Amino acid sequence: MTNEELWQAVLAQVQFTVSRANFATWFRNTKIVSNEKGKVLISVPNSFAKEWLSNKYHSLILKILRSLDKEIKVIDFVVDSKNSPLLKTKSSSRLKKAVPIGEPQLQFQEFKIDQKTNLNPRYTFDNFVVGGFNELAHAAAWAVSENPGAVYNPLFIYGGVGLGKTHLLQATGNRIVSLFPEKKVKYTTAESFISGIVEAIRNQEIEELKKKLRKIDVLIMDDVQFFAGKEKTQEEFFHIFNSLYQTQKQIILSSDRPPNAIPAIEERLRSRFEGGMIADIGIPDFETRIAILKAKCEEKDINLSQEVLEYIASNIQKNIREMEGALNRLVIFYKINQKIPNLEVAKKLLRSLIISPKKSTSFKKIIKVVASFYDLEEKELLLPTRRKEIVKPRQIAMYLLRQELKESYPSIGRRFKGKDHTTAIYACEKITKQLEEDDNLLTEINLIRQRLYNEF
Ligand code: ADP
Ligand code: MG
Repeated sequence: MTNEELWQAVLAQVQFTVSRANFATWFRNTKIVSNEKGKVLISVPNSFAKEWLSNKYHSLILKILRSLDKEIKVIDFVVDSKNSPLLKTKSSSRLKKAVPIGEPQLQFQEFKIDQKTNLNPRYTFDNFVVGGFNELAHAAAWAVSENPGAVYNPLFIYGGVGLGKTHLLQATGNRIVSLFPEKKVKYTTAESFISGIVEAIRNQEIEELKKKLRKIDVLIMDDVQFFAGKEKTQEEFFHIFNSLYQTQKQIILSSDRPPNAIPAIEERLRSRFEGGMIADIGIPDFETRIAILKAKCEEKDINLSQEVLEYIASNIQKNIREMEGALNRLVIFYKINQKIPNLEVAKKLLRSLIISPKKSTSFKKIIKVVASFYDLEEKELLLPTRRKEIVKPRQIAMYLLRQELKESYPSIGRRFKGKDHTTAIYACEKITKQLEEDDNLLTEINLIRQRLYNEF
């Protein structure tokens, strides 16, 4: 494998484990400059990227490299400013050219995003597989695309990570653009909307920005759970929302949880979110996972055996993005070796994805993840307060300490100031009981679990 092929293979994997924005920010204009005696040297465009990659992605990159080539022992980063046309100019046409694409390759279609709409043409209804887990969301999105602004407004789609929210939102946008070319469609993530608002406020350009936003016919906002705790931007969004809504413009939103489970969000905004159609995306069953894999194989032009597909579908169950990541690994093997991996080869190639070393968590991590999930300070969870917005997260933290770490009740009690084993027992029993009745709580706890274990 050449250095370029090796790096393409790494990027293909990285792409499926980090967010799109992070991928574009930190991995653009990187390449392997040498691979000798077990040491891989990766060039990056600036010292900022070097620091970020060494701190945050060192172990991820090393892990992927080692899964591709066992000889590799260490990696290092070096700044190569020549390799950075992009950072000198932000022009998007440069951006397309600068992407290091070689043969064989996977296409990094992130980079073909339409400048006007922000939509990625790779996401369509045609390549979106429908099953019981997403059929309501799909039907609602399809109806909206037929008749934007008229049927479900807003359309609010929620579901766990990697299960197709962004795909569905973008497919809806793309279809509206093709059916109604005169309509102004805009896709944005809540995160980039928030930073746009903050920037505009700083530069005193907020009125202009609002004027521009009001001209949009279809506003698609992904991951609105990020509005939690952002009062100022919630306020601005509320006004934009109202003005679009009153003029029958379509609003499409997604979140990792239902509106009533987003913490620190103003009541009036929540009730706007709840005012239209809410549809969830669940977890695909085995047959649907196979169907999705088959569709992806067709897209990627590889003919894997049923055996291999079943192996992937039975080992990766809760995240379509991870399934696609596994598939990509096999595609790269195929492109490089011109041999379709059989079950035995697939097992080897996917070992690090599937039988990952027993993932573990800790007290610290549970507190950190629960606090950030509910937009609280860690110490708020630990100190004795009866504030309603803290009681439930604290009970969930206790429940998770019991479930995930098998801690004893007295030991759980001791971890929280002013509590003892009776509080811990009460908390665990209460959450267990509520889980039987409350699907939203189940979604929340599953999302928290995902965060506990998903990081590298
Ligand atoms: P989310 O936004 O919910 O985290 P994404 O929409 O980014 O998830 O989906 C993750 C990956 O899985 C994407 O590559 C997407 O194309 C693929 N995917 C998700 N759902 C489906 C589906 N129903 N059919 C085909 N591909 C899907
Ligand atoms: Mg998404």
